Amino acid sequence: MGSVSTPSPVYTLAEGAPYADSTTAQRFSDGSPVKGLMLLQDTQLIETLAHFSRERIPERVVHARAVGGWGEFEVTHDISHLTTAKFLNGIGTKSKTLSRISTVGPERGSADTIRDVRGWSLKIFTEEGNQDFVFNDIPVFFIRDPIKFPSLNRSHKRHPATNITDSTMFWDFHNNNQEGIHALMLLFSDRGTPKSVRHVNGYSGHTYKLVSKDGSFNYVKFHFISNQGNDTLTAAEATRLAGEDPDNHTADLHNSIAAGNFPSWTLSIQVMTPQQAETYRWNIFDMTKVWPHADFPLQPVGKLTFNKNPDNYFADIEQAAFSPSTMVPGIAPTADPILQARMFAYPDAARYRLGVNYQQLPCNRAAAATVYSPYQRDGASTINGNYGGDPNYVRSALHPVSFAAASSSSNKNKNVFTLGKHETWALGSVAEYTSEVTDEDFVQARVFWKKVLGAQEGQQEHFVGNVAGHIASAREEVWEGAFDMFSRVTPDLGAAIRAAVLEEKVRKLQL
Ligand code: NDP
Repeated sequence: MGSVSTPSPVYTLAEGAPYADSTTAQRFSDGSPVKGLMLLQDTQLIETLAHFSRERIPERVVHARAVGGWGEFEVTHDISHLTTAKFLNGIGTKSKTLSRISTVGPERGSADTIRDVRGWSLKIFTEEGNQDFVFNDIPVFFIRDPIKFPSLNRSHKRHPATNITDSTMFWDFHNNNQEGIHALMLLFSDRGTPKSVRHVNGYSGHTYKLVSKDGSFNYVKFHFISNQGNDTLTAAEATRLAGEDPDNHTADLHNSIAAGNFPSWTLSIQVMTPQQAETYRWNIFDMTKVWPHADFPLQPVGKLTFNKNPDNYFADIEQAAFSPSTMVPGIAPTADPILQARMFAYPDAARYRLGVNYQQLPCNRAAAATVYSPYQRDGASTINGNYGGDPNYVRSALHPVSFAAASSSSNKNKNVFTLGKHETWALGSVAEYTSEVTDEDFVQARVFWKKVLGAQEGQQEHFVGNVAGHIASAREEVWEGAFDMFSRVTPDLGAAIRAAVLEEKVRKLQL
């Protein structure tokens, strides 16, 4: 908002021509005070109406509702022995960041406080190009075969006939895809309804590689742990706020940053050698499993701080595009099938939503000194100069292109992707586990129930209430399947949920 002392900007049309009045349409007049018909020549009127009809872009099919901000990442601990990534090297090294934290299932205008996983995305603008982290606030995921991704998300959304969010679909999906039990345990703990986005963690879930100078690598999981703590709402508070103050989390983050109360997160990593991975109890490419801290302790790396609100939500946050495929040298993907699929799906979603040149938008534009990608040319809304007269074909002898020295295992041998010394085991291992659900899938869910929730007063009771309330709103045909699934975590848990659901049924009948 301009203050009184700021000169008023002179209004123009979008092409720059000054224009007399933005508030009235052009009308025919014969010179008398009586004004008649409107005119088709009224460019301003036509542009105003036509642009309004087009001002919405496709909403993200998941993660539509979000809040975000600009910030800074600073290295606090040296990990130069693990990775060549320059933004992770040198204590005190700082990089500009853009973050976006979202719910997953509901639409753009939905309430902030509903029970859901939170997407936790971060773009780090480094001298070697952008590094995107597209994480969640829970450390595991509901599936491990990417072909189930659309099904999973549809089951959390609206029924195709009624257009109502449908808990029957939700349990029908999860009862029959029980590899999601660990993620369900986290979703229905009180962390499923965080107090604000300042109070959630960001977990990579996926296993990545950190690659060092000689091309050797270690497997890592990234954890951004909130320095505000992990405060939560009860189910009742979250429901009340969804009605009374649906923008609660958006306002909380905006007001905190505006007041200079900058939220921050500590980045830590868990590090595993390829040799350890080979014999580890858990398949490290299975996104439904964590690495227990006792096995692989968190090692601090740096600090992320949000320090600036977006100047304009649409320009900075809605147009932001994050992808797990956006990586700098020194960080590399693994055989995790969900990661592999996301590396295709996220840029594809951005091309559909924002257009083929979305990387050129100011919020996504790399801050590297040089961006030279001349074989990616033309397309709607090219705004980077389009590489002038430079060749748009490879291997021009007239205008040769030079290449950076190989710096990671993936590009060392001219783009031949070679598995590391200890990685060939991984191929068969990945294929075998994806579709089978076994008792092993319930082990970490059980540890969470007993060791984590059991150690915090009232948390097991809250969990049972949170799940039971949701199951009770579904049709009875799916109840037994859900009780059976939770009984596989522990028989007591299944029984407690059954009792709570039946109690809720009686309560509703008495209303
Ligand atoms: P630890 O006791 O070392 O860690 C327990 C973890 O649980 C901590 O990371 C903690 O988060 C998180 N936690 C605590 N309370 C809740 C809650 N109400 N809802 C969700 N998460 C909570 O145990 P382990 O590493 O051996 O893991 C035990 C279980 O904890 C796992 O099976 C998994 O379900 C869960 N967990 C494990 C994580 C991991 O990476 N190892 C990460 C998150 C959950 P915080 O870090 O904020 O203290």
